[in-house]
Amino acid sequence: MVLLDGRKTSADIKDEIALKVKEFKDSGKKIPHLAAILVGTDGASMTYVSGKVKACELVGFKSTLIELPKETSEEKLLQEIEALNNNDDIDGFIVQLPLPKHIDEQKVLLTVDPDKDVDGFHPTNVGKMALDLPCFLPATPFGILELLERYKVETSGKHVVVIGRSHIVGRPISILMSQKRLAGNATVTLTHSRTKNLKEITLRADIIVAALGKPEFLTGDMVKDGVTIIDVGITRIKDDSKKRGYRIAGDVHFESVAPKSAFITPVPRGVGPMTIAMLLKNTLLACERKQ
Ligand code: NAD
Repeated sequence: MVLLDGRKTSADIKDEIALKVKEFKDSGKKIPHLAAILVGTDGASMTYVSGKVKACELVGFKSTLIELPKETSEEKLLQEIEALNNNDDIDGFIVQLPLPKHIDEQKVLLTVDPDKDVDGFHPTNVGKMALDLPCFLPATPFGILELLERYKVETSGKHVVVIGRSHIVGRPISILMSQKRLAGNATVTLTHSRTKNLKEITLRADIIVAALGKPEFLTGDMVKDGVTIIDVGITRIKDDSKKRGYRIAGDVHFESVAPKSAFITPVPRGVGPMTIAMLLKNTLLACERKQ
């Protein structure tokens, strides 16, 4: 069994990006600048955003964090987004999700300039992704492709089963892995909460992408020997034995699935760090495109 080490791979990617930034600096070019908008004080969102800002510092990007109170009106948030759209120094920006209930997420995503949409959530980028045109790929699926490529996991002609059909993970990864690309050319089955006999389907999978948000859902009896497992799930579970009061669980029951796997991502240190690295990669791309 080989661990698909997201922490190491993401560190390699960040080193590659840092080298590029140094080249930009040395040749007098603009340094990539990523901005993030955070509305409210949700603990997990604050952790994710601060991780993104820290990663920017690490590779030498400029970063701007705009923190807004949870009562912020939709109108005020849209104004902040327009200001970032019109700010030439900002190459890309993200609006951390989820947003408070009184704000229409779709309206917000539609307001982001597609050329600065480094999360790859705008319909223009989603459409281009589906048509295999140059675009910003959503960071988590992009990170999964990168992990599979760098570990040379064979995907061509393989049966990939994706569990979960969210717009940010399940659906895009199912589209991407069915396309003609290095970590692609697969036969993809996209499953979801209405899927019947899921176990029969997962038992026929060569590769499983678990992205449903149910801790330790996929167990050893649901997979065949030699399977490759990508565990996207991140759920905080109360754990008083930990200093911070919780532990992080994936969607895969690692102890029973790992012994049957050829390749498997751990949680944490699997897909999570890759997501941040690919956000940086998209920001670098946005900056390069502008030049
Ligand atoms: P979501 O919560 O929006 O949707 C869950 C999906 O799972 C739905 O499509 C639903 O139909 C499906 N589902 C639910 N129960 C099911 C069942 N019993 N059988 C089959 N399918 C079922 O999904 P999301 O936003 O993609 O998040 C999924 C998980 O991935 C969460 O734990 C989230 O925290 C995590 N996540 C991690 C990263 C990362 O960087 N590692 C990024 C995004 C999301």
